[in-house]
Amino acid sequence: MFNRPWTFQTSVADMRQLPASRGTEIAFAGRSNVGKSSLINALTGRKGLARTSNTPGRTQMLNFFGAEGASVTVVDMPGYGYAQAPKDMVDAWTKLVFSYLRGRPNLRRVFLLIDSRHGIKDNDLETMQLLDKAAVVYQVVLTKADKIKPGQLATLITATAEILRKRPAAHPVLIPTSSEKGLGIDLLRAEICALP
Ligand code: GDP
Repeated sequence: MFNRPWTFQTSVADMRQLPASRGTEIAFAGRSNVGKSSLINALTGRKGLARTSNTPGRTQMLNFFGAEGASVTVVDMPGYGYAQAPKDMVDAWTKLVFSYLRGRPNLRRVFLLIDSRHGIKDNDLETMQLLDKAAVVYQVVLTKADKIKPGQLATLITATAEILRKRPAAHPVLIPTSSEKGLGIDLLRAEICALP
């Protein structure tokens, strides 16, 4: 499925604009600058598919990507955790994301991206709370693993797994990745291909 040409399908800022739900859907979430666009580009093998470095116009949108003949749709969720985000922007994000999570029966898994240098932050925990409440399974993907030492990565994996153990909808298996070095991308693809 990942050897096909992936293309951008649509951007959605309102639940009424959602495309018809068909096949398996997966979504990617994370703080802004976590490396989400880079990971989607690495996953789909298309450099410019998801734009790297968020442009303000796209921050509050769900972006849909697909490939002819592939049974999976990839959704890029708006990044969160901007330092200067006004409260109404945060509220709009929560409303859009929560209604999407609750109202999308074919959404099989959310990949929650965590920067290996920072670990889980308060706003990641808030996102996990939304995911737990919506009962959508989420799996943590550690990004930019090339930026820390192997020993630090091992410590981070243990600490993160410990946090996830107490969360009802969290998947227990973590995926360390580096879009830059191509690390963990095959494992991520295998997880996606194994989804029902
Ligand atoms: P987004 O805001 O979550 O979509 O993040 P981007 O994909 O735009 O990445 C943010 C910054 O992190 C960019 O400068 C990327 O080049 C850098 N970056 C992303 N992934 C990696 C990675 O795996 N390794 C390293 N070293 N840098 C990365």
